[in-house]
Amino acid sequence: MKRQTKSSQVKARGAKGSRAQAQRASATSPKKFHARLTKPAARKGAAAARPKAAQFVYAFGGGRADGNASMKELLGGKGANLHEMAGLGLPVPPGFTISTDVCTHFYANGRRYPAALREQVTHALRQIEEVVGRRFGDPANPLLVSVRSGARASMPGMMDTVLNLGLNDATVKGLIALSGNERFAYDSYRRFVAMYGDVVLDLKPQSKTEIDPFEEILQRKKQARGVTLDTELTAEDLRELVAEFKAAIRERKGVAFPEDPQEQLWGAIGAVFGSWMNDRAIVYRKLNNIPESWGTAVNVQSMVFGNLGEDSGTGVAFTRDPATGENIFYGEFLMNAQGEDVVAGTRTPLPMTQLARDNAKIYAALAKIRRTLERHYREMMDIEFTIERGRLYMLQCRVGKRTGAAAIRIALAMVKERLITPRDALLRVEPDQLNQLLRPTFRLAEKEQAIREHRLLARGLNAGPGAATGKIVLHAEDAEAAVARGERVILVRIETSPEDIGGMAVAEGILTARGGMTSHAALVARQMGKVCVAGCEPLQIDYTTGTIRIAGNATHLKAGDDISIDGSTGEVFLGQIPTEPSEVVRVLIDRTIKPAQAPVYQQYAQLMQWADRERHLKVRANADQPDQCANALAFGAEGVGLCRTEHMFFGEGKIGPMREMILAESVEQRRQALAKLLPLQRQDFEGIFREMAGRPVTIRTIDPPLHEFLPHDAEGQAALAAEMDMPVERIRARVEALHEFNPMLGFRGCRLGIVYPEITEMQARAIFEAAVTVIKSRIAAVPEVMIPLVGDVKELRLQADIVRRVAAAVMAETRVRFKYAVGTMIEVPRGALTADAIAGVAEFFSFGTNDLTQTTLGVSRDDAARFLVPYVRDFEIYAKDPFESLDQVGVGALMRIAVDKGRTTTPKLKIGICGEHGGDPDSVMFCHRLGLDYVSCSPFRVPIARLAAARAALTSSPKG
Ligand code: PEP
Ligand code: MG
Repeated sequence: MKRQTKSSQVKARGAKGSRAQAQRASATSPKKFHARLTKPAARKGAAAARPKAAQFVYAFGGGRADGNASMKELLGGKGANLHEMAGLGLPVPPGFTISTDVCTHFYANGRRYPAALREQVTHALRQIEEVVGRRFGDPANPLLVSVRSGARASMPGMMDTVLNLGLNDATVKGLIALSGNERFAYDSYRRFVAMYGDVVLDLKPQSKTEIDPFEEILQRKKQARGVTLDTELTAEDLRELVAEFKAAIRERKGVAFPEDPQEQLWGAIGAVFGSWMNDRAIVYRKLNNIPESWGTAVNVQSMVFGNLGEDSGTGVAFTRDPATGENIFYGEFLMNAQGEDVVAGTRTPLPMTQLARDNAKIYAALAKIRRTLERHYREMMDIEFTIERGRLYMLQCRVGKRTGAAAIRIALAMVKERLITPRDALLRVEPDQLNQLLRPTFRLAEKEQAIREHRLLARGLNAGPGAATGKIVLHAEDAEAAVARGERVILVRIETSPEDIGGMAVAEGILTARGGMTSHAALVARQMGKVCVAGCEPLQIDYTTGTIRIAGNATHLKAGDDISIDGSTGEVFLGQIPTEPSEVVRVLIDRTIKPAQAPVYQQYAQLMQWADRERHLKVRANADQPDQCANALAFGAEGVGLCRTEHMFFGEGKIGPMREMILAESVEQRRQALAKLLPLQRQDFEGIFREMAGRPVTIRTIDPPLHEFLPHDAEGQAALAAEMDMPVERIRARVEALHEFNPMLGFRGCRLGIVYPEITEMQARAIFEAAVTVIKSRIAAVPEVMIPLVGDVKELRLQADIVRRVAAAVMAETRVRFKYAVGTMIEVPRGALTADAIAGVAEFFSFGTNDLTQTTLGVSRDDAARFLVPYVRDFEIYAKDPFESLDQVGVGALMRIAVDKGRTTTPKLKIGICGEHGGDPDSVMFCHRLGLDYVSCSPFRVPIARLAAARAALTSSPKG
């Protein structure tokens, strides 16, 4: 089954490949270099008749580039930006990119390459040799290259890389001569052999208990030499390590380490393409919705070395602070180190301010590049650089990942700096990032108490803001298991690696002992919007015993203990600390701080103001109580899109009469019970109308099956019998009579109001009488009565007649005229398919996409969890959980039919959505394209829907 799915994906990739080629053919990228690449083939005469080979290799460096930043689809993000930087004249070591089309071809053709590739790579390599003035494999003057992956979307650390490629027993001599540093040359060589063994020859550990064979040999060597640091090993030690590593490869794999640089190169290229389908890349793609069909590019680039002494170094930086958005040059560097040392978190790097002090010239050059890149990309960028013997090189740039707070602050600042427009700013903030602004922080008093009680254990870097509390787990797998059991966990690691991604995704927060703000833990946590404290050096974590010691503190921690971390300050506390809402929530909901004292709130408010200017969709909230309405208004809701009246029946004093009504054996008895409910419901509606002050309020008549209101256990039934002075058998019999095998398809929705019209009558009366009372107090009230689960126009007509009759009666009795509407939910396929007839009666439609998804897919919304996870994650049957994000192809098709048919009958028919999808950004975009009038979602998602609606308006037109 799985295999079938995969092979069909391979076919799909093949189809996409040809589309990409067609697109590429029309691209305006410079082709001069490529023309030179293909010339030799043309000169062969016979080849002249052959069609010109497609371009698979794109070169950059030496003052020119074949590609540019717009070619991410073909060159991957890393490659496209390297080309762009080279084109801007920035100091990029020369190299070439093998396109994602080759990845597509590779998987569609049994891991074989297109015929033209080898020749194009050879020519591109020659080009690098010309620029650098060294030759690949030349023992006297060797060119060394890196081979790295680079997908369209950044997948930090998920795929493979090989550095220092081209070294062998002969070329290492050349490197010694070139560098004048034998130790450096052998250090590079042993790193290369280990990397090659791990990545290309598959010796990388596969589980958390397995040890890297090269690491084991290295440790043994250090023990034998009586040293603790790698840097204490001599050139001779390192030379021996190379031989021992090669012996380990031969022993474990039965093959010799390839000495031929060409063989090394093709091995590495194959491994990088192969890593597109490794387990962690697959998990990462699923978590980030990156399609498998995109494939990766491969970048081959001339090596530069940051570990050639104290005048060399390497670093990573952001052009602004990625946690807060502050306009400072934010980064870290290490002298005498390779790039991996900074990113892997094995040494804690120094801040950029230190570089400014230590090396003003390099810092000034970097600061200039920072300005150039920000002006050029009009974005906050994330850069990687290397200093080789005092010369600066740019190794990477990409749009920087940032927290939600930083995203807003940067976007607003860039508008002020006239780099972007307010519209651009809206497109710079992902709607879901607003979630982070609405995230909790620790309750101050409890945090202060924790400090007084000496529970502040340690401090690390504030890598991912927010506050989190939970039980310690030390392994990603343990985190997943604990969360599956319903626990909240903090994942505590010495440092994280891409293998930990599943555990990171489910943890409340992440705490690492090593690594900086750009370490794997910090980058991934920010991207996921997770609370993270990184580089908390005092932690001494022992995975084997499951314990943590803390330098300078007597407390010992173990897996399972409670801790709390503050990702905004970097603090780590013993025990639980309760959290409290965000600044935005405190201003808007709790009203405990004033807007003037809340800078984050002010930025949020500005962005929302711009969003409201752009969007076409109105945004309402699903709310059943006045306090929920107040929250919804504070977040900018423009009405109530769904008031589920049944939620009210569980409120104070209401469940009794409700049960009486259900247990009634005659219409008379039922009416008596309903008469008790009437004033209670009226009061509820009054509160809502007052709060909403004239904004539309859609109230749905009772929807769930009646048995939901009765106790199912013997104890509850006995208590109810006593309360109602009724024999318990009667209650039991009624519960049994109401039992349904599939309650979601049974006696519910409008079916209740049709069979028991007195229920609808009572509800309509409560709604209209409440409206009259409110109107009399000079507050406008606009009720919209909505009938659920309609599949046939007659169902709606029967219910609408009752509602309209009651409205007329209330108007006559009270002598108050009010505006109201009667409409329907579209939440079963037949309702959508017969929407033209239904629109003849309904004054509005509201898509109940929870039920419409359930009934269209034939998937129970209550029982789906068991198979939906593998359906989405493993089999890719649905791209996302269809109850979270609209199934646009299936459910969306029915919605389109309903909109078209409904508006054929009534061209201006008001149509909204009130299923959970109304707060999902992708679904909001779809609703905009369908031409809906509004979306309705839970109050805390209203800001997300407002921004999503604005972005939808900026990027597509309705019915587009
Ligand atoms: C729906 O079905 O989408 C809906 C909003 O109604 P409920 O979730 O109450 O069934
Ligand atoms: Mg429903």
